Amino acid sequence: MTVKVAINGYGTIGKRVADAVSLQDDMEIVGVTKTRPTFEAKMAVSKGYDLYIAVPENIPKFEEAGIPVKGTLDDLLGICDVVVDCTPGKEGVNNLEKYRKFGVKAIFQGGEKHENIGMSFNSLSNYQENLGVDYTRVVSCNTTGLARTIYPLVKEFGVKKVYATMVRRGPDPNNSKKGPVNAIVPVLKVPSHHGPDLKTVIHDLDIDTMAVAVPTTLMHLHCNVVLLGREATSEEVIRLWENTPRVAFVHGKEGVDSTAQIMEMAKDMKRDRSDLNEISVWKDGVHVVGSTLYYYQAIHQESDVVPENIDCIRAMFRLTDDNMASIKKTNEALGIE
Ligand code: NAD
Repeated sequence: MTVKVAINGYGTIGKRVADAVSLQDDMEIVGVTKTRPTFEAKMAVSKGYDLYIAVPENIPKFEEAGIPVKGTLDDLLGICDVVVDCTPGKEGVNNLEKYRKFGVKAIFQGGEKHENIGMSFNSLSNYQENLGVDYTRVVSCNTTGLARTIYPLVKEFGVKKVYATMVRRGPDPNNSKKGPVNAIVPVLKVPSHHGPDLKTVIHDLDIDTMAVAVPTTLMHLHCNVVLLGREATSEEVIRLWENTPRVAFVHGKEGVDSTAQIMEMAKDMKRDRSDLNEISVWKDGVHVVGSTLYYYQAIHQESDVVPENIDCIRAMFRLTDDNMASIKKTNEALGIE
């Protein structure tokens, strides 16, 4: 079976998911939507994607701009098996009824609330829960990062409690309108939404999170403290993550002192768009004292959720019931670790 995939909202996440789907042999893109005739709309067409318009009254603007249009969102929903909704946060839920009406499955993103969709997804921790479901949401970039490193700890050592602090990028690099520009902004609600969000994919976890937003666009950084279920060594934890997909070590002693060098590495690796789908953990920042683990990890917010969307499609259509098989297949197609 080749799953026919539509992307609603060809923005930061949508264009990356479209390209990732195009690299798989068991799914294909049948169309993407734009609302306005921007450079991204032109690029989508030049890449060979059929363009559908989510706001039909804007179709004349595309015609004026000379951008060929295949139809409306409704037309696209008539020819796809699943829609990956990548519209801005809190807007996706407004489309749920439409997707139901057209009888298509839908994947939402982390900007939507779990309660509104009813199910959440992470490739490593709860793929099986999502087998055959019609609607789910891939958890946010930060929650995906937490799940990737914490779930293996739960399995291997048991976890009594997690305290995690998210140091969040302000906006994405392409956003010239949002800040902070010269401030550090704490999230005063404790726990921040990240802890409860992680529990939607690792249900019994005891976790408290705090968050601050800082004036950077490159990546998020997490400072995590984990009370393990037993005494361990740093080497044991490092070995565990070395064998965990989509977790990659970086080394301060090799000059990777900050998120700036991580992104420079991604450029040197010639990844598409300089993306880094893996979660970066500082190997020389992993410390275990008795049964308490301290570590730092960095999240490339624009790309870590992309492979999860691919695995999520496989789970929803039961292309494989084995999450590790899907992860391996996705990683090979995308050239990630
Ligand atoms: P974005 O603003 O970059 O892209 C959204 C796209 O949707 C744009 O192309 C916009 O024109 C289009 N759009 C707007 N309204 C629409 C509508 N009503 N119908 C169809 N399309 C519409 O947003 P993004 O950063 O890609 O975020 C998308 C989702 O992914 C959000 O839920 C967000 O929380 C989540 N997410 C974002 C990031 C990130 O760092 N950018 C990371 C993980 C998850």
